[in-house]
Amino acid sequence: MENKRIIVAGGSGFIGSHLCEFLLKQGNNVVCVDNLSSGSKKNVEHLLYNKNFELIEHDIVGQLEIKASAGQFYNLASYASPKDYYEHPLETLYAGSFGVKNTLDFARASKAKYLFASTSEVYGDPLEHPQKESYYGNVNSVGPRSCYDEAKRFGEALAVNYSKRFSVPVRIARIFNTFGPRMQADDGRVIPNFVSQALDGKPLTVYGKGQQTRSFCYVDDLVKGLVKLMESTYSMPVNLGNPTELKVIDLAKKIIAMTGSSSEIVFKTLPKDDPQRRKPDIAIAVKELGWKPTVSFDLGLKKTIDFFREAK
Ligand code: UDP
Repeated sequence: MENKRIIVAGGSGFIGSHLCEFLLKQGNNVVCVDNLSSGSKKNVEHLLYNKNFELIEHDIVGQLEIKASAGQFYNLASYASPKDYYEHPLETLYAGSFGVKNTLDFARASKAKYLFASTSEVYGDPLEHPQKESYYGNVNSVGPRSCYDEAKRFGEALAVNYSKRFSVPVRIARIFNTFGPRMQADDGRVIPNFVSQALDGKPLTVYGKGQQTRSFCYVDDLVKGLVKLMESTYSMPVNLGNPTELKVIDLAKKIIAMTGSSSEIVFKTLPKDDPQRRKPDIAIAVKELGWKPTVSFDLGLKKTIDFFREAK
């Protein structure tokens, strides 16, 4: 019988905690491994009472000494917001290299399927739009984002080569901008920043002229995509995201309107290497996984605003 014990590294983070919750609801036994650096115990506190859930405080940069085996291993453990990885570049590189190696070794020994949480950042500041998985990207290997972009690119390379050399069944999710409840108000990402600023009546800080675009996927949709990918037999990278594209300036206006805030918009310097446009081509996810997002941006944003209101 298939081992339904599932390990989620980075399970106390924003996406990880929603994933743990979803897997538990499906009746699985879930072990969350997290060093609680950008993740928080608060995100999984409500799961600690569940007999099928366990939290192990551990940094994947060190070897995993978990006794029991697992049938599936999700690796989401990494700093992921630009503010966090600018502050912790080496830790980000180590998680994407030593951390990925250690977890792949564990999956190999356990004969577990292994899903690596990669990112749309592998495309850098893309010259192709929308981005297909076949696009190799436009990444500055020594720029401020390189610690994250190159770590994830290396992680993908390591995963495919563990698959070739050691037959570890790997899945690679290229996750585009995701949002929803449990994002941290101070993690520096655009939606938590704008929503917190709007609720506090402070000016919304638009970087550059706000003409850059992003495509935002609601976290419940994303989690379903991750689970479908893990359960598929598709071993090449798959974009997971919502193709609805929005300019940052329009996002700011929408958040002001939806919160009923009287905040103004101020313009700040655009960070170096900030991608100008980003939008996933999800044809592979649709074909191979039968997955596409179903939650509208406005509904997701409403739930996110409600969460930030309650958290205040
Ligand atoms: N951004 C902004 N104001 C903020 C935070 C972010 O205008 O207070 C912009 C940022 O420059 C980028 C986009 O919003 O173009 C998304 O930024 P985020 O940090 O959420 O993630 P990224 O997609 O860049 O990894």
